[in-house]
Amino acid sequence: MSAEQNLNIVPFVSVENMMDLVLATGTETFLRELATYVEEDFRRWELFDKVARIASHSRDGVIELMPASDGRLYAFKYVNGHPKNTRSGRQTVTAFGVLSDVDSGYPLLLSEMTILTALRTAATSAIAAKYLAPKGAKTMALIGNGAQSEFQALAFKALLGIDNLRLYDLDPAATERCRNNLAGLGLTITACRSAEEAVEGAHIITTATADKRNATILTDNMIGPGVHINAVGGDSPGKTELHRDILLRASIFVEYPPQTRIEGEIQQLPADYPVTEFWQVVTDQKTGRDSDGQITLFDSVGFATEDFSALRYVYDKLRGSNRFENLDLVADPDEPRDLFGMLLRRAAMPAISK
Ligand code: NAD
Repeated sequence: MSAEQNLNIVPFVSVENMMDLVLATGTETFLRELATYVEEDFRRWELFDKVARIASHSRDGVIELMPASDGRLYAFKYVNGHPKNTRSGRQTVTAFGVLSDVDSGYPLLLSEMTILTALRTAATSAIAAKYLAPKGAKTMALIGNGAQSEFQALAFKALLGIDNLRLYDLDPAATERCRNNLAGLGLTITACRSAEEAVEGAHIITTATADKRNATILTDNMIGPGVHINAVGGDSPGKTELHRDILLRASIFVEYPPQTRIEGEIQQLPADYPVTEFWQVVTDQKTGRDSDGQITLFDSVGFATEDFSALRYVYDKLRGSNRFENLDLVADPDEPRDLFGMLLRRAAMPAISK
């Protein structure tokens, strides 16, 4: 994993490797370090080759490809979103991705990204909140206590100092699991019986529910002045979480407008409704929060540069480590054009010809 890396052997980060890497780093440190990569790439936004993700929708879900390049490195992620999956013991979101060298086009890294997506989504949410949430925010409501939830909680603790968490999920068992998993990690946790109860006294409200429809997790009367909303779960056409009236009262911040207009909460608004691109806040070209009473909304859908940042971070992190496997992924004939000859030589090997 260095300049001398043999480009024909591709490092592969399995789920086990990723878990070991996160645990060896410490989850909160990992989130903090990853967040610096995400933020750095928002700062470099203009030099990226960007495109709205390529989504293949079906009755129960979506499969998406998410590419991005900074001209030196190229990354893509394969990710699905199938809210019904949990009913049959599968996850709503799973992913894997590749980081490549633009000069040669050769892959540098193949990685699991189910865990990494949860980490990068949480890191991105927390970075957005660092710019947009009220100063001194200590209490967060977390509605939707599924796979993303603990990562969100820890990112907000690590990056913003959130120490009070109010949980709600339609399924009390999900809330219980989330509470148990976070026990002893420095958060005061309240399990609530409704979304209305969860948002009481919260400075930040994170919604991370999964339902393939226009849901109304938050209504206008639940949102007081000065609150920051981190809306994570509305990320596909026809899949939203907030009542439209909230959007009309909020200052809305988005990742990549051509993608968010189709997939985010703002799909409920006219196509020319004013929103602010988050990278412009990071680069000081636009104001984030400008008054105490302002309602800010990060209409998160997840953008390819965040996956690029995550793979770039993991690649840097693995240098000099052995927390990966080697994949024989790229064919390497002795003479580059003799690809067929390589096959013939393989056929002639005693073990193969038997
Ligand atoms: P999950 O299926 O593991 O968890 C979702 C939870 O939401 C479940 O526990 C479910 O009971 C709960 N829920 C559903 N409807 C609810 C309601 N009306 N009120 C309260 N709780 C409700 O899913 P996950 O992996 O945690 O993902 C959560 C959402 O975030 C999904 O919609 C996913 O597509 C989205 N997501 C977005 C990004 C992004 O970058 N914006 C990244 C990853 C996932």
